[in-house]
Amino acid sequence: MTNEDRDLLFASLEQDGMQETLDLLQEECGELVQAVSKYRRYKDTQAFNGMVEESVDVLILLKKFELIVDYLDRMSVFDDLLTSKLRRIRRMMDDKRIGNTNSDNALSRTDGIYGLSAPHARAKGIRS
Ligand SMILES: [Mg+2]
Repeated sequence: MTNEDRDLLFASLEQDGMQETLDLLQEECGELVQAVSKYRRYKDTQAFNGMVEESVDVLILLKKFELIVDYLDRMSVFDDLLTSKLRRIRRMMDDKRIGNTNSDNALSRTDGIYGLSAPHARAKGIRS
């Protein structure tokens, strides 16, 4: 995110206020949940693009939420939680790798993503 982007989001946050921003975050999260459900059901390009669009909406609101957290001098809490949760993901991946030697993972399924079969997704470095 550029400084210009950050300034834009901060101006938008000042204009909308915290309550409106949280309302929008809640709304966009709901739209993303629906978009993911739609993609999982139809697995087509249109549904995938809808899911990407809603994820961008949520990402923008999360960046505005991060500005709120920063404004409230809580970035250290935010950063500590982020670090802690990333470490947890690493531990879970390590545990799964140790206990999982028969490729019983997402790529072993045939659903793929975006019309890609699991082998094609794997060749592109994409996990379904
Ligand atoms: Mg949306």
